[in-house]
Amino acid sequence: MTTHWSRPATKALRADGLRIAELDTSGTPGFKGGKKAGKELLAERTGVLSDLQEKLYANGRSGDPRNVLLVLQGMDTAGKGGIVRHVIGSVDPQGVDHAAFGPPTTEEKRHHFLWRIRKQLPRGGQLGVFDRSHYEDVLVVRVHNLVAPEVWGKRYAEINAFERELVDEGATLVKVAMFVSLDEQKNRLRERLERPDKFWKFSPNDIEERAFWPSYQQAYQVMLDRTSTDCAPWYVLPADNKWFSRLAVTELLINALEGLKLDWPAARFDVAEQTRLLDRS
Ligand code: ATP
Repeated sequence: MTTHWSRPATKALRADGLRIAELDTSGTPGFKGGKKAGKELLAERTGVLSDLQEKLYANGRSGDPRNVLLVLQGMDTAGKGGIVRHVIGSVDPQGVDHAAFGPPTTEEKRHHFLWRIRKQLPRGGQLGVFDRSHYEDVLVVRVHNLVAPEVWGKRYAEINAFERELVDEGATLVKVAMFVSLDEQKNRLRERLERPDKFWKFSPNDIEERAFWPSYQQAYQVMLDRTSTDCAPWYVLPADNKWFSRLAVTELLINALEGLKLDWPAARFDVAEQTRLLDRS
């Protein structure tokens, strides 16, 4: 296998101590190769991811409660959709539980903020994907004062306790915060206004939100500082280069799946006997 990683993605991207304001969003931490090498490696690693995910799914079918949950956070245009389409899209869709979280509905607003999240947790053997998540409740909610500070202020501890519970029940969380520069975001929004096949992705609200960039940066920083725990660490992904984002998330998922030390489930029947019966049939 060719590799151009000087440090594993799990180490190079760990949030611990990182200041977002100083992040080079065009960087490729831990990866020495360029775009061509990155794309070649991605093609290779996609196969590895797909095999591991099949093993996870097979074990789930045999009653294994463990699962992997990818949590994607990022400002508009950061590339969450691209990760879902290109990384998650490369594995068997039967084994994927995907959920996207937009503004809460009237019913959801009547419940605790984790109520709608709990309903979408992946089942045993599944690769879960949260496109936005419970973290919106300490990001957009904090930036726009959607609830009182005493309410969102308690949520960091609530989230840590919730995630601890998930891990104890067999989940491996892969939390990825994606960041593009303000300029790169402008380019990507412009593209959405120039290409009819991208109009559907554009929302006028995306431009209004750009004015809140510093508040979002601050909210993201506090989120990383307070919710990157040993059992559910955050990874910070410089996302100006889409090829790097996709490669890095692929590596993080492979690492999570390898950590489960999965084997193919043993046969729950007598293989020799069944082979004999098949031969006679
Ligand atoms: P995206 O921007 O993720 O590509 P989209 O444009 O299709 O998605 P939706 O998925 O409908 O939009 O909603 C995303 C929006 O919902 C974001 O602006 C996000 O901040 C907002 N949102 C998500 N969760 C919450 C929440 N708990 N409270 C308020 N707003 C939320």
